[in-house]
Amino acid sequence: MAPPRMKTAGEPMRSRSPQDPADIVGEWPDGGAAAAERAIARARATQPWWAALSAHERSGALGAAAERVAADAGTLAGLMVREVGKPADEAATEVQRTIAILRYYAQAAFDADGETFPAVDGRSWLFARHRPRGVVGLITPWNFPVAIPVWKAAPALAWGNAVVLKPARHAMACAIRLVELLGLPDGVVEIVRGGHAAGSRLVARGDIDAVSFTGSTDTGRNLAVAAARGGIAFQGEMGGSNASILFDDADLERAAAMIASAAMTFAGQKCTATSRVVVVGDVGRACEALVAAVEAMTVGDPAAPDVSVGPMISEVARDVVTGAISRAVSAGAQVIAGGHPLKGLGWFVAPTLIRDVEPDAELAQEEVFGPICAVLAARDENEAAQIVDSTRFGLIASVFTGDLDRAISFADRLRVGMVRVNAPTTGVDFHVPFGGTRASSVGPREQGRAAREFYTTTTTVTVSPSR
Ligand code: ADP
Repeated sequence: MAPPRMKTAGEPMRSRSPQDPADIVGEWPDGGAAAAERAIARARATQPWWAALSAHERSGALGAAAERVAADAGTLAGLMVREVGKPADEAATEVQRTIAILRYYAQAAFDADGETFPAVDGRSWLFARHRPRGVVGLITPWNFPVAIPVWKAAPALAWGNAVVLKPARHAMACAIRLVELLGLPDGVVEIVRGGHAAGSRLVARGDIDAVSFTGSTDTGRNLAVAAARGGIAFQGEMGGSNASILFDDADLERAAAMIASAAMTFAGQKCTATSRVVVVGDVGRACEALVAAVEAMTVGDPAAPDVSVGPMISEVARDVVTGAISRAVSAGAQVIAGGHPLKGLGWFVAPTLIRDVEPDAELAQEEVFGPICAVLAARDENEAAQIVDSTRFGLIASVFTGDLDRAISFADRLRVGMVRVNAPTTGVDFHVPFGGTRASSVGPREQGRAAREFYTTTTTVTVSPSR
């Protein structure tokens, strides 16, 4: 795949395979702010044409995009394995999810586009109609290289917007291939091959109507401030420090397997990964079950069919995890599984469980974004809830219990955007509202029908009789 040459605005961007960093998956000139600006201009020029198509035509285009992705599913998943080190079965699942999202929004193009209201004067006709915002910018991370761009782009397109996509450097080859497969006209979907300057440009001038971001909390908050200054609608999905609460009436082995999977698969590099297990009951027994579940996982080449834990995305990311492990150990915590990098070509870290972590310790408070999970003890339900809510994040929590009353009360009291009962924190359905509270999210929810709140604006119309 040879990207077109363009005037460079900086150093070339390189994407390397994390399991074999000598394997350069792609190299692109960084188009910088100028590339973003040109993309916005093309999208601006094309959007009225796209919005004026019938719902039937937009639906047809999204449906055809789904079929093109489906026809290329194996190759796209293979590229994802190579570029970001996602284990093969998860990459295949992500492509299937992407296809399902495109099909879902192909149908959503036919949803009712407004509401009618009784008028106060009893004579007029009042309705509020959802209309496209215009041009929307999407700034996406590398960890879900096709699903995240599509769960933002598909609703935006279904409801008549044009899209400017600024993917992450580490997943640029996947994004370029995805946009080729979508097969939508230039100006309807524009891709910007650029780094931070290109991303910042999207929110800099107020010449775009909305920006949806997924990535780190600091970046998201900075972009949100810039967007607010420019009068741009902004939505950000950011960090998490997600807890699984394990009660002693849960099916321990089953819960431990789900927690291990939520913490460690794809080397824990998901914003919904479990990074804390809060145990109410016998901590020793819980640790034994968790260690057994983690040690049953296979670490290695993500292309191999039995591997569920691949490499970390980069050397820097690997060093963040090993640094966090050594600081936790110095603070008195105990490594009960893993705890060290693995020899090999790429950036592998053994899946790591650490117990005796204090609730206010770095590992329990900050997002480390790797195959690492802290085990914390709570005396009772109240303390467990307090620990879960003690971080600045509020994305998702899981509750493992056989007691329905307890599950319901936890779902009500936790200050998080999503709660799952007897299910892992990862793997949230694509058609339900997605998002968190506090430092985890800003703006309206993503996914499903909820996405319409962000990608449309309403016009309220009052029609009164002419005499
Ligand atoms: P991650 O750790 O998941 O890569 P980041 O927040 O660093 O999270 O990156 C998410 C997306 O935001 C990427 O597309 C990245 O290029 C972009 N990005 C990162 N920093 C900036 C910035 N300062 N301004 C604009 N975009 C940025």
